[in-house]
Amino acid sequence: MDRGFEIDWRVNCVVEENAVILVFEKLEKMYQGARSSLLEPVQNNPVDTLVATMISQATNDTLSSRAFLQLKTEFPDWEYLLGADTEIIEGALSCAGLYRQKAKQIKAALSKIKEDFGAITLDPLYDWPKERCFEYLTSLPGVGPKTAACVLAFGLGKPAFPVDTHVLRVVKRLGLVGETEAASSAQSMLEGVVPEDIKMKLHLMLIEHGRRVCTARKPKCNVCILKDMCQSCNSHVLEANNG
Ligand code: SF4
Repeated sequence: MDRGFEIDWRVNCVVEENAVILVFEKLEKMYQGARSSLLEPVQNNPVDTLVATMISQATNDTLSSRAFLQLKTEFPDWEYLLGADTEIIEGALSCAGLYRQKAKQIKAALSKIKEDFGAITLDPLYDWPKERCFEYLTSLPGVGPKTAACVLAFGLGKPAFPVDTHVLRVVKRLGLVGETEAASSAQSMLEGVVPEDIKMKLHLMLIEHGRRVCTARKPKCNVCILKDMCQSCNSHVLEANNG
């Protein structure tokens, strides 16, 4: 993908589509095969995607996948979960962080879905516009904007740009969003700017970049493919961290 333009990053501090595309093109050279080990196995299954993403809050992908598989083994049909004691759900989720809270929220979300659709299914959302899906999903207990966007993108195959902790860190450092921006407002800002056809791929590549290069504590700015355009590269804070 070569759209053949350059921009002056130092004067373009607001989110611009051109800036986003430039980041995408550079990351694409490094992370062509970026994927989600947690969500790829449940892709195109919106309910499983919802549950897996709820489990992943504050938990890494390895433990989230393990907890999700344990939950599926315990409850091969989500209907069984609705009738189960909370302690049994907690037991299945115990390798994930905040598992007590997640057990309650997952049960409550699935229960609400059943109440709304007569079964534990999100299939009706395939026919809804994206905005209505987002509104519905964020009305479910324990479901925030990032989880809703993951269900849209991975579960329902609708273009969406989830902003998790890695994505937020990288876009802030790049200067795509302000330093004090919350994940939810960064997501709604970027949702309107990132072209539909690159949303999921850019999300996956930014996560990969955040894990491998633009790490929380010691970003490897010297080897970063985005360093020429990054507002934080060589900043005092990062220099100190790199030292
Ligand atoms: S230059 Fe440094 S701070 Fe900027 S994106 Fe790369 S690793 Fe992150």
